[in-house]
Amino acid sequence: MERLVEIERFDIEESSEKSLRPDGWNDYIGQPQIKKNLGVFIQASKKRAEALDHVLFFGPPGLGKTTLALIIATEMNANIKVTAAPMIEKSGDLAAILTNLEEGDILFIDEIHRLSPAVEEILYSAMEDFRLDIIIGSGPAAQSVKIDLPRFTLIGATTRAGMLSNPLRDRFGMSFRMNFYSNEELSEIIQRASTKLDKEIVNEASFEIAKRSRGTPRIALRLLRRVRDFSDVADEINISIDRSKFALNELGINENGFDEMDIRLMQLLISAKGKPMGLSTIAASLSEDEGTIEDVLEPYLLANGYIERTAKGRLPTPKSFGVLKVSNSLGTLL
Ligand code: ADP
Repeated sequence: MERLVEIERFDIEESSEKSLRPDGWNDYIGQPQIKKNLGVFIQASKKRAEALDHVLFFGPPGLGKTTLALIIATEMNANIKVTAAPMIEKSGDLAAILTNLEEGDILFIDEIHRLSPAVEEILYSAMEDFRLDIIIGSGPAAQSVKIDLPRFTLIGATTRAGMLSNPLRDRFGMSFRMNFYSNEELSEIIQRASTKLDKEIVNEASFEIAKRSRGTPRIALRLLRRVRDFSDVADEINISIDRSKFALNELGINENGFDEMDIRLMQLLISAKGKPMGLSTIAASLSEDEGTIEDVLEPYLLANGYIERTAKGRLPTPKSFGVLKVSNSLGTLL
């Protein structure tokens, strides 16, 4: 089943409706602390006419990491090359990318925790000394070649800060944790996006979509597009609250933004009757891989207190009993 609240990268709709991506700070809503700090660092490096220090963004998918990298490039008047770790298979691939960069360019690597150790090793000297240290050939004929690189900025994004090796993490001059968005912030993002789509939406309706978007702009924008479809078909001029509620219910997105997978996870934890459940058991029971559960499913539920993670495993909280409207007979155990 397609998950509407699922967060894949580069979906077709997004690339065909690029215009929804904010192109400057003013359009980038939320993450105030990150905006403030980054703004200072960008201003400082512009003043010194230097490339910005390497930046790492971490947090669940769809929270605006790529968007921030693009905004940094605009602010720095720099070219940006966007790639993802799975596309850099061999050290030669990375060497080719790096040697094609020019002074002040930005290289954005998404899912940076997925770089292979050999590729990562090359990145160390490139980031630290702006030098490429590669071995050409093998055996006694192997030669070490050193190539100077222009001063560039690496922007890395990851959903798993914990999976990044220490040497790599240490080479980033700054790192920022992305937070889930409040309903007010998401509502504002939806309002701005609807204006760009030439379809106005009433405040109550944008708030309703926001509430059901799991704190994530990518989901909010996807739901907005679907609700707009319902509204267009009904020949509505502005997207109304009733139409939004109807559309969201039709799409199976419940009042908290939970879909079937979230509900199944909470039900599963409740069924363990107070015993913490390990990640591998959860993955097997839900037929999902552990990575998806940790990166996509759990962060929102954890951040909002629907589940709890202990050393022994995951536990439901009274809030999840409330969502599922199951009486909390385990109250004393939790
Ligand atoms: P990530 O790289 O973290 O997976 P993206 O940067 O691709 O997320 O953002 C997903 C979508 O959400 C983009 O289409 C972007 O337009 C929108 N978006 C993300 N953050 C914001 C924000 N702060 N304000 C407005 N739109 C945002």
